[in-house]
Amino acid sequence: MLQSKNLSPKSLAFFTALVISSPIALVFFALNHSIVEALVFFIAILIGCYVVIFLTLEKFIYRKIKLIYKLIAQTKATKREEFYEKNILPKKGIDEVRADVEKWALQRKKQIEMLEQNEQYRKEFLQNLSHELKTPIFAIQGYVDTLLNGALYDETVNKKFLTNAAGNVERLTSLVNDLDEITRLESGKQPLQFSNFVIQDLVKNVYYSLEINAQKKSIALTIKKGCEAPLQVNADEGKIRQVLTNLIYNAIKYSNESAMVEASFYNIDKDLILIEITDTGFGIAEEHLVRIFERFYRTDAARSRNIGGSGLGLSICKHIIEAHGQSIHVRSKVNVGSTFGFTLPIKN
Ligand code: ADP
Repeated sequence: MLQSKNLSPKSLAFFTALVISSPIALVFFALNHSIVEALVFFIAILIGCYVVIFLTLEKFIYRKIKLIYKLIAQTKATKREEFYEKNILPKKGIDEVRADVEKWALQRKKQIEMLEQNEQYRKEFLQNLSHELKTPIFAIQGYVDTLLNGALYDETVNKKFLTNAAGNVERLTSLVNDLDEITRLESGKQPLQFSNFVIQDLVKNVYYSLEINAQKKSIALTIKKGCEAPLQVNADEGKIRQVLTNLIYNAIKYSNESAMVEASFYNIDKDLILIEITDTGFGIAEEHLVRIFERFYRTDAARSRNIGGSGLGLSICKHIIEAHGQSIHVRSKVNVGSTFGFTLPIKN
């Protein structure tokens, strides 16, 4: 009972008063030899000390501690908190109060770190965005200025400059479209339209739409042997088409002439289908693998090869797949190739 940990202000005041009044009353008895007077004296000192000590504790310590708890909670006390403050808090030892405050401080520190991270993320996003926008805008500005300054009448360059300017307008448009898409996905305002469809048919459809790009580099777009048996998935077909288009387009874009692009499909358990797009292209160095799904992230190799792209494609893919409650992953080796895979729920 005397363990300081469990003492309430009342008990603490009582025991302290007892400790003070007992020896005084004993000394009084030794001097006066009257048990009744000593008892009255003892009770008077006990009550006096109790009141003074209790009020001091209440006023200077526990009220301040209550105040700290109120500040920590930051909200108006609910009935439960009021009960807590009245009945449980006074029983808490100073060590427990300190542990509570430390726990609160740690939570706060984490919150602040998260806010700082978000702030950093926002700054990086704006920096990247302005960089990505500036490049095509400055290029267009350069071509238009040169044309206006006389090149318009120079038959040897005017068409080339206009074509280059148009190419940059196209790049700008696709960047803005990607940004628009990513913003809509992040805001969650685009509910998915689930339906059952055969995933191989959709891949063949995307292959068909990218045939010209593949033919330009003599790249064969194939489906792995043994993976032809139709597998039905339950997903948003339009969105999965977008994912497949990004992955297959990247596979073509980041490969040399005569590379191979192959799609494979696996029934991994009774609920899930794994879809993989494999290429025999440039591959991605290990240090980039963890970051390529980030917005605007492009490998140095992609930049130095000057292959057009916003660095938003894979980030859009990740958003779409995660909105389906699934995951996307990559395996890759430089100069060997890459495999991007994602799962989808089987038809219901
Ligand atoms: P981008 O518009 O640059 O293609 P993505 O988000 O689609 O943007 O891809 C991010 C980066 O990941 C690319 O810049 C490229 O460096 C790398 N990457 C994506 N797919 C492949 C691939 N199949 N092979 C090699 N590198 C790839």
